[in-house]
Amino acid sequence: MAHFISDDCLSCGACAETCPLSCISEGDTKYVVDADACIDCGACEEACPVGAITAE
Ligand code: SF4
Ligand code: SF4
Repeated sequence: MAHFISDDCLSCGACAETCPLSCISEGDTKYVVDADACIDCGACEEACPVGAITAE
């Protein structure tokens, strides 16, 4: 299990600043979660202004 960022991402960066493990980084077209590092804490989900992050 890991959190996943959908194509609704606006690349605002809020989630990356919120993740306690810094496992979110900027990808080519949207931000992406490193699924191997994510511990499903849910912090990024609440930080996203457009609801683009969900638990897989
Ligand atoms: S659920 Fe937690 S650990 Fe996983 S990407 Fe979001 S903030 Fe980081
Ligand atoms: S907070 Fe939401 S919109 Fe902003 S970079 Fe993260 S996933 Fe994209």
